[in-house]
Formats: sequence, structure tokens, C-alpha cells
Amino acid sequence: VKSKLKDAELLKTDCFVGGEWTGAESGETMPVYNPATNEVVANVPVGGAKETSRAISAAADAFPGWKAKTAKERGSILRKWYDLVVEASDDISSIMTAECGKPFAEAKAECVGGAGSIEWFAEEGRRIQGDVLETVNPSIRFLTTKSPVGVVGAITPWNFPMSMITRKVSPALAAGCTVVLKPAEVTPLTALSLAELGRRAGIPAGVLNIVVGDAPAIGDTLIASDTVRKIGFTGSTGVGKKLAAGAADTVKRVSLELGGNAPFIIFDDADVETAAQMTVSSAFRNAGQTCICANRIFVQEGIRSQFVEAITAVVNGLKLGSGFDEGVTMGPLISPKQRDRVHELVKEAVSKGAKPTTGGGIPNLGGKLDQGYFMQPTVLDNATLDMKVYKEEIFGPAMPIITFKQDKDAIKMANDTEYGLAAYFWTKDLARAFKAAEQLDYGMVGINEQAITSEIAPFGGIKHSGVGRENSKYGLEEFLQLKTLVMGVG
Ligand code: ADP
Repeated sequence: VKSKLKDAELLKTDCFVGGEWTGAESGETMPVYNPATNEVVANVPVGGAKETSRAISAAADAFPGWKAKTAKERGSILRKWYDLVVEASDDISSIMTAECGKPFAEAKAECVGGAGSIEWFAEEGRRIQGDVLETVNPSIRFLTTKSPVGVVGAITPWNFPMSMITRKVSPALAAGCTVVLKPAEVTPLTALSLAELGRRAGIPAGVLNIVVGDAPAIGDTLIASDTVRKIGFTGSTGVGKKLAAGAADTVKRVSLELGGNAPFIIFDDADVETAAQMTVSSAFRNAGQTCICANRIFVQEGIRSQFVEAITAVVNGLKLGSGFDEGVTMGPLISPKQRDRVHELVKEAVSKGAKPTTGGGIPNLGGKLDQGYFMQPTVLDNATLDMKVYKEEIFGPAMPIITFKQDKDAIKMANDTEYGLAAYFWTKDLARAFKAAEQLDYGMVGINEQAITSEIAPFGGIKHSGVGRENSKYGLEEFLQLKTLVMGVG
């Protein structure tokens, strides 16, 4: 990927601790693969407990100085970081496409969104406010102040190698916290390029540290440390629950963005063509690998055949291939394991009676791409509630279509999951829209809209999908703690 970069210095292959680029003490490295071709993009250190402990110390040392800066001073450094990220967005996107496989245009879109969080929190940090409370006794006064929680451990997944980082690191830094970040082991390079730009922007040494490598070793060290006062995690529900349980020992705060099983309801008064387009955009963004992807498509009886036809046509228009190739709209899955898992889910659904109207298997794309981890985008008509694609988060390019008769049937099935991240529905009827929005047990609801992510809107789930919110003014609160001041003036 180096040859594609305008600034080859952005391709960093070390941990970033206390402002220094360093390898693992063991000297061990591990490869980062391009999922479109299975070629090695770079080798990075296998950091573990030792590197993480050093990073925690560096973050703890940097904390008092960073906290003591004014929000305006921190904000102007973040703003500089934002400017550098925007300037370097072609390079960051190339690195991202190389390690995560998403089409270059999608990587650019993530860059815009990811940078948006930096810009937003650069500004929002100046609006941290305490209270002066009306007293109950003339001889005392009550005030509240807000201060940064301290050293933050951030653990991020591979599906959004940039934006999952900026939506944690930017509010943490804006609030005055310092950070030890562990990016996903399969997509560390985007994270490292961000750190290099942060260094150039003037983020002081130790304020942002990155340890790449052995996930459980790094995670366990962050969790066990009493210095780390908060964990921000995006990833699987299983790992999230373990982290939350571990965090109890030192009473750390946690924000968890976990799995989803998003329902996408098309009521019979919806614009079928638009809904079909939007369903595909949602279900197959990043080859279906996002936690808010439409996972179960509920279509009202009267428009079913029209909708299935429309959606099949849209899916047939997708172009699979390397994210660097012109016109490609869908890349590979992140790993052979993920690809095989999705393929198995599709096969199980078909064995139980689902009918693929398009896709269903592993494509032959020819050349180097035959070594990639591709799966055909698949529409599964006649899906039923006993199939795994209904119950589990698919995290790949397959969409089960389920028919419903009455509105209440759709809502009931939509809520029939332990998850509660994002839900979507399509209708032109205002009363129907209000009722559905109120009845859906989800943290986020898209109403005639599938693009629900923005730096200004709170992002997060309920039930087993997580706790806490990222982005928005609520995302900043996650990194602040309240202090009550009671002053005697009698
Ligand atoms: P996904 O299905 O998105 O890969 P994971 O939960 O496995 O979800 O990964 C999300 C992040 O959690 C990644 O950075 C990964 O390395 C990290 N991770 C995985 N296992 C652990 C663990 N035991 N402790 C801490 N972090 C972990």
C-alpha cells in the first residue's frame, strides 16, 4: 500500500507509547493481511502486557498536564488534528481499504465521518458545564463541577478502523482524559496513521498511546489496572460482557457498543423502490459488517413480491472486488473464518426453505482475488423465524426477507431479540411512524432513513447491545465525572 500513499510516513508499523514508536519487547511481529487478496500489507509488533503497562504509565504521567490545559487549548490541538486528518484522507482511506477491504469510496466516507467526531469534540469540549444549585439553607451553597475521569482504555473493532477510534478518543481528549488504545489486531494500520497525525498536530507525548498485538493480554492488562478508570469498547457482545465483568473489580466505568440484530420494516404504504435501495445500502454496507446493518427485513404482505423483485435488481447491480478497483461497491469479508460463518448461515437457511433470489455462494473473481475472502451478496426470500439468520447477527452480505400481515406482527418480531441497537422502518403515514418508533425497543430508530450515524447524534444500544452513548453531547459526558461542592458561607 505504501506506493499508493502521498505521505509514506503515515504507514507506521510500531506501537506508539509515550510519544515514541516502539516494537514489542519480545521482538515478535504479526502480519496484517489484505482481505481482498490475502497478501501481507505490513507486519506489526505483538504487543502484550508489558507494552500495555508502559502505555498506562505514560498515560497516567501525561494526565495532570493534559487535564490542566483549558478546553480551548485542547480543542485547538484537536482541531489541528482534524485538519491534518482531512488533508491526509486519501492516504488514510488507502490504508483502510488495504487492511479492511472496504471500497475506497466507503473508506473516504468513513474518513469524513471519523474526522467529523474530532471536529465536533474539539468544539464541544468548551461547553462542559457545571451547575450552581438553589440552596436549601442560607448558610451553604451547592455547586457541581465536571472533571475528566482519568486514563481511558479504548478497544476498537476492525469494521470501522477509523471512526470507532475517533468517536472514543476525541471526546476523551476533549474532556481532558488520556488514552491507551488497542485497535483490532487485523486493522492496526489506520489507527497508527491517526496517531502519527495526532503527534504532528501537537497532542503531547503520552496523551494518546496505541498498543497493537495480543488482544486478551492487552485487554486483561487494561481491565486489571486501577489507573485505568474507564473502558470504551466496541465489539462483540461476548467480549463486551467479559470486559464489563472484569471492570467491576476496580469499579471502572464502561461504555459498550455491542452486537445488533437490526430489523428493517417496510410497511405497505412505503415507496418500494426507495426502500429497496436503502435496504441494500444498510444491509450491505461494508459487506454487511456493521453492527447497525439491516439484519432482518420484514415486508408487509401486499408489497412483498414487488419489493423482492426491486431488491434483487439492486443487489444484482452491486460490483464485488478489490476496494481499490474502479466501480467496486462491495469488498470482501474481513477473514476466511467470517466468510465461512456467513456462508454456513446462508446454507442453514436454504436447508430450512429459504430461497436465494440472488447470490448464495462464494464467487470466482479470478486472479489474486480468488485468494480473497469474498461472499456473494445474497437475498434470502421465504425466511422463517427458526433460521439462524433471523436469530443471530449475520455480519455479512446476506439478508433474510420475512413477510408480515399486520403492523403489530412486525413490531413483535422486530423486538424478538436480546439486542437493541438500531431499527428502521419505512412508511408515509405519520401515525404509524410515531407508534412504531415508540414501540421498537432500540437505542436508535431510522424512520425512512438508513444513514443514522452522525457525530451530532447519540449512538448506542439497549438490552444486550450495550451501555452508554458515543458521539454527540452525551458522548462527552461518558468521559466526565461529577463533583459536588458544598460550601459553608454562614
Ligand atoms: P469482532 O466480532 O468485531 O471481531 P471482537 O469483540 O472479537 O469482535 O473484537 C473487538 C475488539 O475486541 C478487537 O479490538 C479485539 O481485538 C478485541 N478483543 C477480542 N478479545 C478480547 C479480549 N479477550 N480482551 C480484550 N479485547 C479483546
